[in-house]
Amino acid sequence: MHLSVVVPCYNEEESIPLLVDRLVQAIEPWKERAEIILVDDGSSDETWAAMEAAHKRHPVVRGIRLSANRGHQIALTAGLEAATGARIFMLDADLQDPPEILPDMMMMMDRGYDVVYGRRAERQGETRFKKATAFLFYRTLNALSDVDIPKDTGDFRLVSRRSLDAVLQMPERARFIRGMFAWAGFHQIGLEYVREARVAGETKYPLKAMLRFATDALTGFSTKPLKIATRLSFVSLLVTVFMAIYVFGSLILFNTVAGWASVLLAISFFSAIQLLTLGILGEYVGRLYMESKQRPLYFQSQETGQPMAHPVDFGPEARDSGRSATQSAARTAAEQKEAS
Ligand code: UDP
Ligand code: MG
Repeated sequence: MHLSVVVPCYNEEESIPLLVDRLVQAIEPWKERAEIILVDDGSSDETWAAMEAAHKRHPVVRGIRLSANRGHQIALTAGLEAATGARIFMLDADLQDPPEILPDMMMMMDRGYDVVYGRRAERQGETRFKKATAFLFYRTLNALSDVDIPKDTGDFRLVSRRSLDAVLQMPERARFIRGMFAWAGFHQIGLEYVREARVAGETKYPLKAMLRFATDALTGFSTKPLKIATRLSFVSLLVTVFMAIYVFGSLILFNTVAGWASVLLAISFFSAIQLLTLGILGEYVGRLYMESKQRPLYFQSQETGQPMAHPVDFGPEARDSGRSATQSAARTAAEQKEAS
């Protein structure tokens, strides 16, 4: 079983020696056919030197250096594209995700799962703010998105070649990789683990990066915010109807100021119309956006039966030989079986 490990690293010079030692131990049972891919995401410290040193000590380590800082998800994508394994294990460089869980993940995959993701049972050494925002983020995301994205999971996971190939077929630029795996489908399961504190350095996700990440995720997997106007327009129309009843009632009872009824009705009616047209625009913009991603329509998960040995051919040859194209296809299939 060929195994690839992919780690995006941004200014992680202190973590890398420790990371590599623990990874090399974790992949011991598969070491004959394994590779560890470290991606340097345009670090400004000595991360690249640390990678070169790691490669000298352990030849299983491969380094890839990006020309500039492109962000966690892009760095991870670069590593995933370089990976050649039949199973791919991804984790963060700061050892918040314990590599020692790999054998358990491998076991789950032996049982037929395509994606075994780590679910954070507990997060150690993180600020209350980070925990609270993460908690809210995953709940909002699930409420808004049409895809069921597992809660409290990161990109820490073991995936099969076919699920990775599916994700790599998605050409979108704003990447939310854990969501893309969820969207791709196949058999998925979570494995609980305790998220430890960083071994060294600081978080590379300041508030600004967290907000960008959250926006990418929400807009990438949902067009619901665009549809809010449509819903509001229905509320607004309902209000208009009640308003009309009230206005006409008052008119009949003659206790109105001149012009009041027409102004009130016009305002409520036209705001409803405006919201409705905005909603229609939103619907089209949302569709344009989804189309522009050019995601594959489906991925095949299983198949039974075989395709015909030859495509049906009603050409002159089939007619001349006096047997139907299907018969000839069946015969060639039988011949092939005999030969093998
Ligand atoms: N990372 C990266 N490029 C960036 C920011 C982060 O490759 O621009 C890497 C980082 O080195 C780490 C992983 O992404 O391996 C997760 O980042 P971090 O641990 O800082 O995030 P947190 O765990 O605090 O959410
Ligand atoms: Mg971290």
